[in-house]
Amino acid sequence: MATRKGTDFNILLDFYNRGFEVATHTDTPSAITNTTILELEIKTERQTILDNVFMSANDIQGWRSPYLKTAGDDQIRVLKKLGYRYDTSKTFVRKNATDGLNSFPLTTDFPWPYPCNIPPCWTQSHSNFWEVPINALWDYKKAYPCPTADGCHNRPDTEEDAREFIMMNFKNSYNGNRAPLGFHMMGNFFRHVPFYRAMDRFIKEVLMLPDVYIIPISKMLDWMEQPVPLAQITRYESWKCAPLASPTPAMPALPTLAPKLSAEKCVQGQNCNLPSCFCKTFDHSMNKADIPQIVYLAIDDALDTSVSGYFERLLFNRTNPNGCPISATFFVPTTGTNYTLVRDFYAKGMEIGSHSVTHNNLITREAVSREARRSKENLATYADIPLSDILGYRSPYLATAGDDQADVLQNLGYAYDISYTFTRRPSYAKNVWPLTADFAWPLPCNVAPCLRRPHRGFWEVPVNSMWDYTNTDICAYADDCQRPPPTHDHVRRYLTNNFKNSYEGNKAPFGLHFHGRWFHESRNYMGFKGFLDYLQTLPDVYIVSVKKMLDWMQYPTPKSQIQTFGPWKCAVMKRPQFQQLS
Ligand SMILES: [Zn+2]
Repeated sequence: MATRKGTDFNILLDFYNRGFEVATHTDTPSAITNTTILELEIKTERQTILDNVFMSANDIQGWRSPYLKTAGDDQIRVLKKLGYRYDTSKTFVRKNATDGLNSFPLTTDFPWPYPCNIPPCWTQSHSNFWEVPINALWDYKKAYPCPTADGCHNRPDTEEDAREFIMMNFKNSYNGNRAPLGFHMMGNFFRHVPFYRAMDRFIKEVLMLPDVYIIPISKMLDWMEQPVPLAQITRYESWKCAPLASPTPAMPALPTLAPKLSAEKCVQGQNCNLPSCFCKTFDHSMNKADIPQIVYLAIDDALDTSVSGYFERLLFNRTNPNGCPISATFFVPTTGTNYTLVRDFYAKGMEIGSHSVTHNNLITREAVSREARRSKENLATYADIPLSDILGYRSPYLATAGDDQADVLQNLGYAYDISYTFTRRPSYAKNVWPLTADFAWPLPCNVAPCLRRPHRGFWEVPVNSMWDYTNTDICAYADDCQRPPPTHDHVRRYLTNNFKNSYEGNKAPFGLHFHGRWFHESRNYMGFKGFLDYLQTLPDVYIVSVKKMLDWMQYPTPKSQIQTFGPWKCAVMKRPQFQQLS
């Protein structure tokens, strides 16, 4: 529901091209009940969007009144005259939080059949027009109805309360009369972090249910007009889409717009905002003294019994300063991997990412698509890892398919790629912070192809090169130096020196990228152990998985509050019991 004032039409166009519905709303300072003004206002809103977003006029179908204050019968007459299909401004309040009875959408052929909460309500007959009632949600304490999702008297102020709020209202429909469930709210409610996180989890989880569809209002009305049972829904024409791997925009973007989008410079806080967008930077906006030093371990290749023992001994019994176990990320290919070990490592809090199926060079869209999909399915099937927890991908040999790879990964539900390298030069220069690809790959391209197009909200975790123990050559991976450190003490000092570049410098997350087989040489194992022992003497160093590192990137939290930073807590989270729903 967009208004002409304050709307960024480039973003609206992008959303439209991704299949989101665009409807109209207005930002008048007061409610409109005068029919002439209303008609002018609706016309102007509609025309402004059509002039700026290059969409088909038929695709603007819905209207919402400011303050939900309507002009009753006149409003429906005006909307019909202007070609609208539905209004969604009237509210319905179910009797209690869990009676399972929300209102289905209805046509306006007969007078509004419920109590008129905000008069006037229509009283005459209007054919061929839909009203989509705003079913009030109930607050998480089940005490009061909320006129909108962001307007509860008992506002959910923790992620768990927000989750209860969302799930309780969802279950009311899901276990009740199955009336379409709508969340009506202002976009800025997502700036309320607990709600954002709870909604993010909710969406990922319900999409794993076989009978839940998240669709725009227009497609919901298609179903109302032509109800189709679940058994036939996958063939339902109105809900079909082009295959995800090759999205075809409904309308081509005008050539003048596309270059403008990618040539734009990333300015944090202006055209790029957390939690979904983070510009390339060497200096975080937070005061350096307040930044906890993150260390993440990104470990590659098959997890099997030849390497698992090293990690069990090195990682399983250590804790971070907040008392929670340290974690690391393992990027495993299907080939050679022991899934029983993977399951065990995951249960111990380790993150598991994909490193393809075959560990071949994968440099075409088709190859990446096939293996990134398949490897994820294998992890879910054989190691019981929820698909929504498999978020990271690393290319074998760091050979990527460029923009195609980011497209494919994002469509498959990956949140980040960790395949592009960055080299600080000279050795005392700064490492780069992780970034989102909203403005393509903004750094030198060491291994082509790099990203040349924007990929909104997709994280790139740069593989920051190491400087070797003599400080003369670079090593892409920690275990990949041409001149390897000769003793365990050299290994420890080599790791420590590179770490201090961040710790005593810009505090950028310090990543160690290596293969499990590095520890076949005991000097490497012992040196690495000495390095971990040293890290654990530092009160502000956290050893976390890539995923948890990105949680911090999205919600930067100073040292003083890090003990209570939600994503890093280790209490067992209550997961929804979907099996009890049906
Ligand atoms: Zn590998």
